[in-house]
Amino acid sequence: MKAKTIAVVNQKGGVGKTTTCANLGIGLAQEGKKVLIVDLDPQASLSISLGQSQPDTLDTTIASIMNKVISDIPLEPNEGILAHDEGIDFLPSNIELSAVEVSLVNTMSRESVLKQYLDTVKNDYNFILIDCSPSLGMLTVNALASADSVIIPVQSQYLPAKGLEQLLLTVAKVRKQLNPKLMIDGILMTMVDNRTNFAKDICTLLRETYGGKIKVFNTEIPQSVRAAETSTTGKSIFSHDPKGKVADSYKNLTKEVIKIEKLRQKHKSEIGR
Ligand code: ATP
Ligand code: MG
Repeated sequence: MKAKTIAVVNQKGGVGKTTTCANLGIGLAQEGKKVLIVDLDPQASLSISLGQSQPDTLDTTIASIMNKVISDIPLEPNEGILAHDEGIDFLPSNIELSAVEVSLVNTMSRESVLKQYLDTVKNDYNFILIDCSPSLGMLTVNALASADSVIIPVQSQYLPAKGLEQLLLTVAKVRKQLNPKLMIDGILMTMVDNRTNFAKDICTLLRETYGGKIKVFNTEIPQSVRAAETSTTGKSIFSHDPKGKVADSYKNLTKEVIKIEKLRQKHKSEIGR
């Protein structure tokens, strides 16, 4: 087993990164995959949404782990990794991660601290998902440097234009300077309200603008209060509202993600022959 690592990124806040990480991760686990989700946001929304209501009281988090990597202190096996009862593992975060981001500036190989850590757990999982913070700072660069691919959630109520261009430039730069194998799995439309023409227009516009260059997932995540509620329930949408349209759409997204991975494996083995 060697995990495929996917960074869920967008420097715009509140576009559904965390919700997507949690529900795609649990969706993949329901398909029999071994999944680790890394909370790489000092706000710790993912940790909270997975049931850690007081992340700042945790001793071992991605922050303490990255500090150990920086100081060359060996890690215990599975250090800090928590199990969620819907079948995934996750590494929580807390506010200390913002201090780590500051200290990275003076660290050797500062872009690859997260990668050094993930290399130690990669063989235990099929997928590692990284929930990024809404910024293109050092933490996100670490995520991009250690990922095989990125998923970009885009909120359908707003025109993403400029922000998206900047994000794509950052991905291109990381690919050139740090991580040549970095791919874009796709743009994911989130919080889609199909009752409004505006949301439909943005979806269509995005597909027209980027569809040729970048995959836009066929699956669109609908707007629903049931999805918003999962930020605090400690449960995924699959147990909170299993028959709802959001559970359905995250199931479809899971299938698309597995399909991309299968195609890539097939492609790899064909080149290898
Ligand atoms: P941040 O940039 O702050 O990390 P984010 O990109 O991780 O934000 P989320 O936290 O996943 O975004 O979602 C932002 C808010 O929107 C949350 O309150 C969440 O519960 C809500 N939300 C997420 N997905 C949906 C949806 N499909 N329908 C309605 N609300 C949603
Ligand atoms: Mg988030």
